[in-house]
Amino acid sequence: MTTLLSPEIDTVGELTDRCDRCGAAAKLEVTLTSGGDLAFCGHHANRMHAEIARVASKVRVEEGFVWAGK
Ligand SMILES: [Zn+2]
Repeated sequence: MTTLLSPEIDTVGELTDRCDRCGAAAKLEVTLTSGGDLAFCGHHANRMHAEIARVASKVRVEEGFVWAGK
């Protein structure tokens, strides 16, 4: 069994990004361990929480949004 590293999670004010999957307002911004950035709406952030946690070094969650990967 492999041990997953937990990303560092910050709560922030309103995010201005759009979801990279569907274009809805982002609730979660991710900094990847590989260097890039991704943004997800609430729907995609929760549906892909396991994948996000696996590749993220840092996660910024909009205040008030409850993320399944936390
Ligand atoms: Zn989305």
